[in-house]
Amino acid sequence: MTDLRTAASHFINGAFVEDAAGDPIPVIYAASGQEIARVHAATPAIVEQALASARAAQAEWAGMSGTERGRILRRAADLIRARNHELSVIETHDTGKPLSETLVADATSGADALEYFGGLAGSLTGEHIQLGQDWVYTRREPLGLCVGIGAWNYPTQIACWKAAPALACGNTMVFKPSEETPLCALKIAEILQEAGLPPGVFNVIQGRGEVGAALVSDPRVDKVSLTGSVPTGRKVYAAAAEGMKHVTMELGGKSPLLIFDDADLEDAVGGAILGNFYSSGQVCSNGTRVFVQRGIKEAFLTRLSERLSQAVIGDPLDEATNFGPLVSARQRDIVEGYIAKGVEEGARLICGGGRPDLPGWYVEPTVFADVTDDMIIAREEIFGPVMAVLDFEDEDEAITRANATEFGLSAGVFTRDLTRAHRVIARLEAGSCFINSYNDAPVEAPFGGSKLSGVGRENSKEAIAHYSQVKSVYVRMGPVEAPF
Ligand code: NDP
Repeated sequence: MTDLRTAASHFINGAFVEDAAGDPIPVIYAASGQEIARVHAATPAIVEQALASARAAQAEWAGMSGTERGRILRRAADLIRARNHELSVIETHDTGKPLSETLVADATSGADALEYFGGLAGSLTGEHIQLGQDWVYTRREPLGLCVGIGAWNYPTQIACWKAAPALACGNTMVFKPSEETPLCALKIAEILQEAGLPPGVFNVIQGRGEVGAALVSDPRVDKVSLTGSVPTGRKVYAAAAEGMKHVTMELGGKSPLLIFDDADLEDAVGGAILGNFYSSGQVCSNGTRVFVQRGIKEAFLTRLSERLSQAVIGDPLDEATNFGPLVSARQRDIVEGYIAKGVEEGARLICGGGRPDLPGWYVEPTVFADVTDDMIIAREEIFGPVMAVLDFEDEDEAITRANATEFGLSAGVFTRDLTRAHRVIARLEAGSCFINSYNDAPVEAPFGGSKLSGVGRENSKEAIAHYSQVKSVYVRMGPVEAPF
């Protein structure tokens, strides 16, 4: 039996810390509606303690060799893998996502990030530029104190995707999870500490938006990395700009998935299912506008309905379950509101749309066909299990319509035509793309969006550039020639 109680609300300077004066934040299990734990939002005193510890720890952490820093991160990765089951149970309680998913997609993905960036840490270098007898060398230096702010859909993964590259580069971090999912990041902080991380290098404090805002506006903070919605992204980016701070923004999307007549039908249906219903649709990169070429449309819808009828909706802790509830009652209301709009606007409801007869915040996997570009369900991010299927005739038209959105997070194409696949992907305006697949996010590949979906990239070697800065040093070997 996994113990869900946490020793205290915050983890600062290597220890659990409580300040019961902070607003209580109940942790509600999405599959039952019951309170399973309770934390307190950070008071100004807690915010101060976290920032001061992270600031104080930074120089010594950056002074260690990259190999030493990396060893700690890799040890943490091993501990996470060894405790995958326990961490997955906590992730399931925090989010409601089924254990069949969390066992393979959350702590494991966090461990991958810690292992990958732990491995890179020892090889972070500058360069040498010879200029005759003079020369320039560059030093790759940390930014300093980074703030990470997370969304509720992947609380373990988000904490690790931000902490791993930040710490590998010699930064320290204060991380604020979403108020909906406060438990997972505390476990990661505990494990990093056990792996040998010095106190103050990774701190977790709880709170709602105002705690995030207090962190972002503090002059001691050098960088802010947010995973969240576009409206929050605008606010956080603007506040960071006041202090000329570096940012990474991983925001929302309404990504297109293009399925051509010649696609392998089973693969295309599988891709559309992964890109709409994994984590009950609460994935930012989901391909929620599924453009299906007319020749394959009816076959696609028939096979999709057949496969959706096999979804096992139920107790997330039962490993046979592969479709769980939404994170909160509020999110379920939002999703049901969009389903009602889809019906009202005249889209054809193919399946789902209702609530399964279960306690908790469930919504059935829902598919609308005959969706048109102007409908709200084709324009706004729903962040729930609602797929919009749109028809198209030819390639040019599909690309133009796919790009007619202010978002640009992801895009996918299913076709057996090799040249068409690459031609189409080259024209789609999105940061993370897929050919004959959807939603793969290995740590080795850059992840992030264009347009309103974000700034910067997480994962891969690209992330190093977003958590470090280059100092260039000119070295003169001869006499200095001054005009007077
Ligand atoms: P929100 O944008 O509401 O919140 C994101 C985080 O920011 C939360 O921790 C929130 O705190 C905090 N926050 C809110 N206001 C402020 C502020 N003014 N200053 C600083 N921090 C603030 O997103 P959700 O948590 O509702 O997550 C869902 C959204 O996240 C979706 O739109 C989705 O697309 C996006 N997302 C993007 C991903 C990506 O990688 N591109 C991945 C996953 C999700 P609190 O909620 O506790 O009040």
